Amino acid sequence: MRLSQFFLPLLKENPSEAQIVSHRLMLRAGMIKQQAAGIYSWLPLGLRALDNVERIVAEELDEAGCVRVLMPTLQPTELWKESGRYDALGKEMLRFKDRAERELLYSPTNEEMIIDIFRSYVKSYKSLPLNLYQINWKFRDEVRPRFGVMRGREFLMKDGYSFHVDLDDAKREYFKMYDVYHKIFNRLGLTSIAVSADSGAIGGSLSHEFQVLAETGESQIYYDPRFDDVRSGKKKASGEEMRSWYAAADELHVTDKCPVPKDQLREARGIEVGHIFLLGRKYTDAMNIDVTGPAGALVRVEMATFGIGVSRLVGAIIEASHDDNGIIWPDAVAPFKVGLINLRVGDRKCDDACTLIYDTLCAKQVDTLYDDTDERPGGKFASMDLIGAPWQITVGPKGVERDVVEMKHRKTGEKQELSVESALAKILG
Ligand code: ATP
Ligand code: MG
Repeated sequence: MRLSQFFLPLLKENPSEAQIVSHRLMLRAGMIKQQAAGIYSWLPLGLRALDNVERIVAEELDEAGCVRVLMPTLQPTELWKESGRYDALGKEMLRFKDRAERELLYSPTNEEMIIDIFRSYVKSYKSLPLNLYQINWKFRDEVRPRFGVMRGREFLMKDGYSFHVDLDDAKREYFKMYDVYHKIFNRLGLTSIAVSADSGAIGGSLSHEFQVLAETGESQIYYDPRFDDVRSGKKKASGEEMRSWYAAADELHVTDKCPVPKDQLREARGIEVGHIFLLGRKYTDAMNIDVTGPAGALVRVEMATFGIGVSRLVGAIIEASHDDNGIIWPDAVAPFKVGLINLRVGDRKCDDACTLIYDTLCAKQVDTLYDDTDERPGGKFASMDLIGAPWQITVGPKGVERDVVEMKHRKTGEKQELSVESALAKILG
């Protein structure tokens, strides 16, 4: 992408409404624009990051055998009356009427609708287990939307639902997804701690929240010190091992009953990026969902449900990876992997070197933002640092005379003079 053709509305000033660094950087880097409290437009740079997060989540789920669907955001209210949640969700659920005075709601979560799909088609245990998911917008009329996309009212969620013939199989899937979630967050450059949690309005008997540690996180968590060794990479641990270590959300933590001695217990703030629930029969009992079992008689279906905050993750990644100059994207989610800076647009040698680099990277499908504008160098460097491309290549008149360009690694700040060929080789691997 040539910057001269792109739409990148950077802000020079720190927006006063932003209380946390990820919100501030997302506004300054022209990633999002607020349209109403907790409701955002995703501008081109932000959308690229959001799409990358969504793609990685979908890839890992597909590999784990989950099957993607897409349900409507607008739903009739009947299903919710059937499950008994129509009244339970209260003002958080946005309700309205269409022109025929039929009641509709904007989906805050989709247990009822996925069950409606399930019961229309699945009649036998032979079709189970089945794990369906979607990635779609949700609306919850949060009392206090804040911190940008971290707590929005409209937000993008991955919501998954699995169906099983017995509780043991639902548990097997639950623990499998526990491992898949760690893998997903690792690919996004995050290390998460799964804490035992309250199952709240979704319900069920067992639940874990996946928390990314950050001072600005809204959750208070308590955990075994061994998690810190896993987070720092000092120790590797399987999901099974980690589940045997103490980790609890605030509402479940009881000081007297905690197995970790007080002087070793870790206490931290976390951003909840995912939440899984073993539902059992909570919804299938309310909605009478059976399949024929192996012996021919009807058996009640058991369920589990799995959420990931896709739009919240973009904020969480920035919260975990930035410096005073801006965002430091992990490679996997970077909206652009390479930022290419032409210090003297119009100089034939600079232009030629840039065109060669740009065309080569584009041909290899490496997302590159080419700054071909005539802004002054200081501004170009500051903008590139702000938007956080993992690699920056700078082409200037002095360098091209000696056939070198400058290559900078955003994360370490390390700079190197390299020939065009070596710079390209370094990126293309
Ligand atoms: P929270 O405790 O943060 O309000 P929740 O427990 O109500 O979240 P879930 O129903 O578990 O949320 O939703 C699944 C995931 O969706 C959460 O783990 C979180 O990452 C994300 N999420 C929930 N609410 C919001 C929101 N208002 N804005 C952005 N993401 C959200
Ligand atoms: Mg939750």
